[in-house]
Amino acid sequence: MLIFAKIKDLEAFLLEQKAKARTIGFVPTMGALHQGHLSLIESAKKACDICVCSIFVNPNQFNDKEDLKKYPRTPEADIALLEGAQCDVLFMPSVDEVYPEAIHTKYNFGYLDSILEGAHRPGHFNGVAQVVRRLFEIVQPHKAFFGSKDYQQVMVVKSLVQQLQMPINIVACPILREPDGVAMSSRNTLLSPNERKLAGHIPVWMKHAAAMIRSGKSIAQTKQYINAEVIKHKDMNLDYFEICNANDLKILDDSSPCHSRIALIALFVGKIRLIDNINIDEFESPQLN
Ligand code: AMP
Repeated sequence: MLIFAKIKDLEAFLLEQKAKARTIGFVPTMGALHQGHLSLIESAKKACDICVCSIFVNPNQFNDKEDLKKYPRTPEADIALLEGAQCDVLFMPSVDEVYPEAIHTKYNFGYLDSILEGAHRPGHFNGVAQVVRRLFEIVQPHKAFFGSKDYQQVMVVKSLVQQLQMPINIVACPILREPDGVAMSSRNTLLSPNERKLAGHIPVWMKHAAAMIRSGKSIAQTKQYINAEVIKHKDMNLDYFEICNANDLKILDDSSPCHSRIALIALFVGKIRLIDNINIDEFESPQLN
């Protein structure tokens, strides 16, 4: 695997590859890699000739500076995992390389930025858009691969490439889960053993909530169920739980008919904020096993 820290070196390599008509698949990450990330690498390798992964902990998308400080960083282990996955290129730039000067660009994602993660993490998606745009301009991939765990992020990135008219195909990939159903996440490594055990409730509650909705229970009843479960655990705090239209993330109530529903949750386990989602009307989807 080739490892680049400098934009000009990466660009020179990619120019050569594009001259040979090779297609580029791109997987942007913040490192502390796990099998979820590697599944994106696998998808990129299948779909494209060259797979480029980036590891960059983007300060601009952290609205909480403490969260940025404690974000896990495991570069040696990441390199070993990417080598094992036969990733072709790793781009690991410094903050100064990515942002030689401060970026103040403001993006408008309208409704999408006003709900769920947008509402609870002000400025987060603007920071995501800044780094994704920058990385897309550097790598200029044919396809870029994102995980559906960050469901709203995929929609924001799709909106970004549409707004900027970038010729990049955004591919959403299924959520990979631990054996107990917990969505894989770099943040899981920050949980204490007891908190990690508590996190195991999340996929159980989400499956149950999806089953409630499918069996005709009201959204209010389903929200009550989630609230009641979370409240039983003093180390868990609910940020949000919503049932949305999976196509546009419009928040649903019982009067809104919809046949493509998704339940999304964000909650704190101790000090660690976790997110998850489940597609309600495609229960047999690869999201859950
Ligand atoms: P991150 O390093 O957390 O910024 O994630 C980088 C990419 O990996 C994003 O597109 C995430 O949605 C994706 N990702 C993170 N966790 C998972 C998972 N459990 N399954 C699939 N993709 C994931």
